[in-house]
Amino acid sequence: MSRLSSVRDALVRAADAARLAAHAPYSGYRVGAAVLASDGRMFSGGNVENASFGLTICAERSAVCAAVGAGVRRISAVAVVADGPAPPTPCGACRQVLAEFAGPATPVWTASAGGRGLRCRRLGRLLPFVFRFISASPPAAAASRHVCPRRTQSGS
Ligand SMILES: [Zn+2]
Repeated sequence: MSRLSSVRDALVRAADAARLAAHAPYSGYRVGAAVLASDGRMFSGGNVENASFGLTICAERSAVCAAVGAGVRRISAVAVVADGPAPPTPCGACRQVLAEFAGPATPVWTASAGGRGLRCRRLGRLLPFVFRFISASPPAAAASRHVCPRRTQSGS
């Protein structure tokens, strides 16, 4: 077994285990995700649904938050495992969050429960036009815009 396939298998197993711990009482659609940090550590998380549906957190973002909370800033591989007959794909929001910490060549493995239907896509293919924050002006100039304008003598 190559190192890549053993890493892939470990990530998929971690994602599958996180799927079983997901909180999905409303949809019944459990998803688990695992991310491999550039330092070799692995973090996972499941989807966390909420009675106010808009507050639901996807498994991918749950795993990313666990990693970032442990100091991770670079992710080198991702696995997502979900209930249902077809492997999932990360939603648009999760693609953008993954792109904050991973590059376009980062493999995103997806599978159904137990690792069935495993397939791999690169993050750059899932999100070809990632949003990047580019400041419109230098920080000092931007900060000065937040100063309340002074009144002129003729002003009211
Ligand atoms: Zn998502």
